[in-house]
Amino acid sequence: MSIDIQPKHKPEGLEGAGYFATSLDKVVGLARANSLWPLPFATSCCGIEFMATMASHYDLARFGSERLSFSPRQADLLMVMGTISKKMGPILRQVYEQMAEPKWVLSMGACASSGGIFDTYSVLQGIDRIIPVDVYIPGCPPRPEQVLDGILKIQELTKSEAIRRRDTPEYKAMLATYGIE
Ligand code: SF4
Repeated sequence: MSIDIQPKHKPEGLEGAGYFATSLDKVVGLARANSLWPLPFATSCCGIEFMATMASHYDLARFGSERLSFSPRQADLLMVMGTISKKMGPILRQVYEQMAEPKWVLSMGACASSGGIFDTYSVLQGIDRIIPVDVYIPGCPPRPEQVLDGILKIQELTKSEAIRRRDTPEYKAMLATYGIE
């Protein structure tokens, strides 16, 4: 009995009887995109919505991201959810700096992205004031479907990213604006 197995997201490449060839960056991108290890930096209600995204109904494990990490050294996706006070800013930045490259940042909800309703002296008006952000998820709180959409956008980014994008002058210049080497 022959089984016809078709990969769902096959990268571009050459194929023939018994072989498939593609470029290394596409294979690396595919592996990275489907094995993201999130670090949930959750400070308030958006974190609860993320817990719902992890649970059985929405099941983030379907996207290869079920392995959460609470150590920045073993994570490649920083998910910031909730109100970030100015006092907490340096800690968030330290967590970001401790993560190894390549790494991505997802800002979930109005508070993390812009301070939300908390336009006060003590609240950071958006985490992109201290660290670079790759994807923003709007809403207060965003629904789990939106979180999944954000993860899919990060996956697209990781797939299409050249292996050494982080070594480009443009990327280094962007980090330099944050004072990060
Ligand atoms: S965006 Fe809304 S739901 Fe999310 S942490 Fe802020 S107040 Fe809570």
